[in-house]
Amino acid sequence: MRIILLGPPGSGKGTQAQLLVQRYGIVQLSTGEMLRAAVAAGTPVGLKAKEIMAGGGLVPDDVVVGIISDRIDQPDAKNGFILDGFPRTVPQAEALDELLKHKHLKLDAVIELRVNESALLSRVETRVAQMRERGEEVRVDDTPEVLTKRLASYRNQTEPLIHYYSERRKLSTIDGMMAIDEVTRAIHRQLLALGAIEPKSHARSAAKAAPAKTGTKKAKPAKKTAKKPAKAAKKAAKSVKTAKKAAKKTVKGAKKTPKKTAKKGVKKAAKKAVKKGSKKGPKKVTKKRAKR
Ligand code: AMP
Repeated sequence: MRIILLGPPGSGKGTQAQLLVQRYGIVQLSTGEMLRAAVAAGTPVGLKAKEIMAGGGLVPDDVVVGIISDRIDQPDAKNGFILDGFPRTVPQAEALDELLKHKHLKLDAVIELRVNESALLSRVETRVAQMRERGEEVRVDDTPEVLTKRLASYRNQTEPLIHYYSERRKLSTIDGMMAIDEVTRAIHRQLLALGAIEPKSHARSAAKAAPAKTGTKKAKPAKKTAKKPAKAAKKAAKSVKTAKKAAKKTVKGAKKTPKKTAKKGVKKAAKKAVKKGSKKGPKKVTKKRAKR
């Protein structure tokens, strides 16, 4: 499986990529991570990228395309990969299309994590605080000033990719404001729907998540699907019962049977109306209540 995670800084791409790596046994290819490693090692690429990254700008397309092309050729990427932070510009996306074609590889999906921009700063602040707590080195570009520039780069240069991939029918958009595990589940469902993963691997991951409860690997989805209709049937039967009850009670005093909308208050009003001798009482009241 080969997928791209698209989203602004702080949208959770890195977190989701790591979870997907664990779940599907594929590798995460983060250009940001690779560039940071190059900066730390002082390689020619690192020297080129250092200042640009510190200022929140984008490293030249040819540099990142070269890095990714080499990385995809590594044996550990044969099983599949998640591109995190690449492509970031339309020329990068075009170069990726070309190099995948050349390598006879297919891109399965582009997952966009959509988030409210207002939440991003606090998310990055939380990330910084957590890194400090763990005693990790904090990224030089994780400051409010640089984040503003990184967001501007995203808006101007990366957001056009949403259109690029949606035109090519590759884009799936997921609400990145949900809890981390809900986002993971939504991505998983999307990958299933697209056929990027087999239902079998769904069963495997579900069994992994709750090994004590599930018997065989295949048992869980079967159980789930069997349960659902039974539940729905119960619910339906219950609502029919309630409707019948309501109908019986009101029929006692009124000729016009209130529909499902007639609740307690309606029934009371119906009784009152009947006492007064009005036959149409319940219907009128039902309408009034329903309007509210
Ligand atoms: P990230 O870790 O994805 O937030 O990336 C950190 C920084 O690395 C970015 O702000 C850019 O300066 C640089 N960078 C990472 N990926 C790319 C890319 N695909 N194209 C250009 N610059 C990149």
